[in-house]
Amino acid sequence: MAKGLLKKRTKIVATISDRNCQPQFLRRLYDAGMDVVRINSAHLDPEGVKKIVSNVRSVSDKIAILLDTKGPEIRTTACDEPVSYLKGDKVRVAGKVDEKTTHNVINVNYPEIAQFVPVGATILIDDGELEIKITGAEGEALTGRIENDGVLGSRKTVNIPQIRINLPSVSQRDLIFIDLAVKLDLEFIAHSFVRSKEDVLAVQRLLDRQSSGIKIISKIENQQGVDNLEEIMEHSYGIMVARGDLAIEVPFEKIPGIQRMIIGRCIEKRKPVIVATQMLHSMILNPRPTRAEVSDVANAVYSQTDALMLSGETASGRYPLEAVKTMSRIAAETEKEKDQYIEMPAGSLSGPVSAYLAKVAVKTSVRIKGKAILADTLNGTAIRNMAAFRGINPVIAQCYSYRTMRELALSYGVIPVFMEKKMSVDEFIRVSLSDLLRNHNLKDDDIVVVLAGNFSRGTGFSFIEVGTVEYLKERVRISQSDLMA
Ligand code: PEP
Repeated sequence: MAKGLLKKRTKIVATISDRNCQPQFLRRLYDAGMDVVRINSAHLDPEGVKKIVSNVRSVSDKIAILLDTKGPEIRTTACDEPVSYLKGDKVRVAGKVDEKTTHNVINVNYPEIAQFVPVGATILIDDGELEIKITGAEGEALTGRIENDGVLGSRKTVNIPQIRINLPSVSQRDLIFIDLAVKLDLEFIAHSFVRSKEDVLAVQRLLDRQSSGIKIISKIENQQGVDNLEEIMEHSYGIMVARGDLAIEVPFEKIPGIQRMIIGRCIEKRKPVIVATQMLHSMILNPRPTRAEVSDVANAVYSQTDALMLSGETASGRYPLEAVKTMSRIAAETEKEKDQYIEMPAGSLSGPVSAYLAKVAVKTSVRIKGKAILADTLNGTAIRNMAAFRGINPVIAQCYSYRTMRELALSYGVIPVFMEKKMSVDEFIRVSLSDLLRNHNLKDDDIVVVLAGNFSRGTGFSFIEVGTVEYLKERVRISQSDLMA
């Protein structure tokens, strides 16, 4: 049945676990507005990843898949049973990776910890649930004082704010999962704790070695990542504002400002950007969001993010479908209040002519009250350039490869569609406009902007045409039977 154009322009990334990934469930989330599935390798084994991927692919070829790595992350080792601490307890912190954590010694997967963490530093465990003040060092261990009552379980996260962590860019576990992502031909790898361009390049080298087209999303989750944002962006396809760890690594009151700054820089640089973590956290247990969460989602949309992310809400929460629906509703409503497009230089991504035509297309479609932009793309660059203007009209992107189609699932306001290669501009218009009219309700006097020129040359747009649906149908000879097909 034909339906209206975009309900929301902001994309939704939903984290899925292997314990709840049945195709019917994924289909419901997709219909509710999920565009990208995130798989968190920190909580899965390779079989679990394969199961999720196969189920997602069976639901739709349009859903992109993003695999999240652990990156240079510190965790405590396992303990036989949860260890209880009281404020004031003394504890040693050591880097004996193969030894268990006990009440006396908390071991972590960072053998050189005593070398790099100074007296006076604070160590936060389990997302800040347990705080340790470092008071000294004894041989290869640090000594510290527990600052609050708490219980420590196995393999909990460790954050040491403001301290540079000297762990390799890619862990042994990451190697296994990156290799798997390549074999499964996923769209994105979100690499955790990216500190500088070196971390991105380390992953890129692994991908290049296997001639993989997987794109890297760098997760910014500590001060070093924020400080090195420009060089990180330069080498990444996109950026994730990973607020979970970020709010522990830097003072939490700085998060809204950092989030706004990162989104702004990503728009200027035409890099897809995702805002992540605790967006609808209370919906893990409740069917309705808190007022603060509604405002948090809306704030990210006002700041013009490409995508919003759900974590526990969809991976393990009681109300995953409601969470996606809630996020879609807030995004759609907030988008009505925003500016109609961002006024900014055309840039030169995909070449000056193509970039200028993209800007003109967005502005024209707004000024003449058009309904959609039809554009073709070889590798998605020119479309991402256009998406950065955050225009109110959807960009129907005709892609000549499935990879490009799925990559664009992450870009604001883009409806990607797969298309066999076509020979001429008119043929492109005929196929894409027929497709648009078959799937969406458009009237004869609705205006459409056509932007084309790729046709396997990869030089971006070189052609723009503006017309009513009626005029274009007549010009490229679309018959009623084309619309029935
Ligand atoms: C985060 O820290 O916000 C995040 C998205 O990463 P993870 O879920 O891997 O902790």
